[in-house]
Amino acid sequence: MRKQHQSAWLWAKQSKSCWTGIGALVLCTQSFLLQAADAQAFDSLIQRLDNGDLVFADRAAIDDYMQQLKAAVPPDDAKRQRRLQREQCYADFYDKPDQGIAYANQFLHKVEMNQDLVNLSHFYLCRAYHYGSKNQLIEQDADLQQAVALAGRSEDPLTKAQALSDYAELLSSRGDNGEALVQLFEANQLYKKLGNRFGIGDTVESIATSLRRMGEYDKALEYLELSEKEFAAPGDKYRLGFLWQQKAFIYGETGKPEMARQMLERTKQLYLQIGEPLYAAAADVDLMWVANQQERFGESLEIAAKVEQQLNRYQQQGGGEKVVNAELFVLYQAEALAGTGQLASALEKFIEAEKLITALENPRYSMWLHRSWSKALAQAGDYTRAYQQLVQANLLEQQLNSLSKKQRESLLRYQFDTELKDEKNNQLQAQNQLTSQQLQVLESAQRWQYIAIALFIILALIALFYAISQIQRNRQLHRLAMTDELTRVANRRSILWFAENVRQQSLQHQQHWCLLLIDIDYFKQCNDNYGHDAGDQVLVQTAAMLKQQLRAQDRVGRTGGEEFLVVLPNTDVAGATEVAEQLRLSVHALSFSGYPGIQISISVGVAQAGRLEDVREVMSRADAGLYQAKSSGRNKVIVS
Ligand code: GH3
Ligand code: MG
Ligand code: MG
Repeated sequence: MRKQHQSAWLWAKQSKSCWTGIGALVLCTQSFLLQAADAQAFDSLIQRLDNGDLVFADRAAIDDYMQQLKAAVPPDDAKRQRRLQREQCYADFYDKPDQGIAYANQFLHKVEMNQDLVNLSHFYLCRAYHYGSKNQLIEQDADLQQAVALAGRSEDPLTKAQALSDYAELLSSRGDNGEALVQLFEANQLYKKLGNRFGIGDTVESIATSLRRMGEYDKALEYLELSEKEFAAPGDKYRLGFLWQQKAFIYGETGKPEMARQMLERTKQLYLQIGEPLYAAAADVDLMWVANQQERFGESLEIAAKVEQQLNRYQQQGGGEKVVNAELFVLYQAEALAGTGQLASALEKFIEAEKLITALENPRYSMWLHRSWSKALAQAGDYTRAYQQLVQANLLEQQLNSLSKKQRESLLRYQFDTELKDEKNNQLQAQNQLTSQQLQVLESAQRWQYIAIALFIILALIALFYAISQIQRNRQLHRLAMTDELTRVANRRSILWFAENVRQQSLQHQQHWCLLLIDIDYFKQCNDNYGHDAGDQVLVQTAAMLKQQLRAQDRVGRTGGEEFLVVLPNTDVAGATEVAEQLRLSVHALSFSGYPGIQISISVGVAQAGRLEDVREVMSRADAGLYQAKSSGRNKVIVS
């Protein structure tokens, strides 16, 4: 059937439902019992159709499916009604193209359809299918182009895939197989993305058909076998019939008519079995083609007679107005008539065939026609016209060959471009992956950096804190080490160290400096009479008084129990004596809270440092003064 009825058949293949196995029987029976409008049931029927996983066993199953759809559609649900009408456009008129066109027209002229791009595209596809049945190729082409454009605008991938593959079918039958294949590959990709098994298989088969028409028989067979193995569901007889028929064409065109004949016989039986007499008749027409090839012209005419009988019977039984493969049927009849020597009838048939084939614009068919016609004319002795026909046939063959060559080139380029595109996509993906990996690594590195920085800051703070506290501790320790605990004035070590400094500086600056050695008089008695605490208080207050009376550059230190040393830088003995006297009076004036009876005095030894004296020597001279003060009655200042 040379795919002339591909769309109807396509539809038949697509509209697959519940019809295989016991489950199917249950579902179908149910549907007839219920017969109630049910939006959900309707949607699920449509869903299975659109998903491409329905299988129809035969024409009855298709009719049954349509009955179910009609029963399920809610009467006032405009959207679902429209969806049903879309299917009816094919199913109710598959063999009545004029009525189908009229039906589609109703919707194409509706204003509100302008908003419904998907359905609009499908009604164009449906009308194109019916135009195709009537060989109105210009109208079919225009409708298919509309459908493809609308499907593109609708952005619905399923509609797009269907429109593209329908258009590809027309292109391929016209001989434009390169362009057809490009569209079929695109449609195939869309179906793959949708996971639509039917669509994938269907496009693979159409690809095979286009390849066969280009003379790429090996590749075509590969694709057919792929489809049979991978995509044909068990029980999908429509698909099987198509696959076998395609294989038969390949065998026939590659010089294996016997294998072609066997395949076609099987195909014919299958179509009869599933209630498709029109398709069976098409297989018969193909059998005529094989018989003619084998020069079994008598047999070919016998088949022709049977086909005619069958078609008459079909039409009498109320079948459609359409005749399958009419143009090839007439051509093969003409060939067979010429082959059996009935030249006059043959030449008439050739003229009839020419009209039909010219309308088809199929260059392959035209070439066959001219070649056979030329042969018949030569047989009839009309060499001039035979020659003209032969020239036309050869011209067409040349055109076809150069077309095939171009198509192969453009196909190769397409495949190359696609592979290149895929490769680029892969590279881009790999790059993206790499970048995101690098980014991840960078991010984690950065995270670690932040952690490290945070840790470092914490450590630094701890170290700083530690250092500060250490410094403070050291200072404290230093202070403690240099301070007398009780009186808070310099201790012995500290005051001696200070004295040594003053000595050196005074030496350097050639200044005088003096020491005062001070001892509290009768301190033991104070302790004895008032207690140790009283003694401590006396020590503390005395030290404070000494400190208070001194200048900023002077310093006092506690050198023993109740003994103090005062260092007076830049002071001569007169000044020192004055200071000592002042100190003696101040301490004497001290009173002690809680101990009103206590009055103390101090004895002071004064010594001015000699230029080369060390601190110890000056101290011992001051001590000598102190000793004198003590022994001469105490509460005195003595210079020595
Ligand atoms: P003099 O006039 O000869 O100096 O007689 P004194 O009693 O002051 O001297 P002495 O050396 O006999 O006694 C000193 C006393 O000072 C002895 C000791 O118990 C007391 N003393 C020493 N250190 C402290 C101290 O830190 N606190 C108290 N409360 N008493 C102390
Ligand atoms: Mg003493
Ligand atoms: Mg004393």
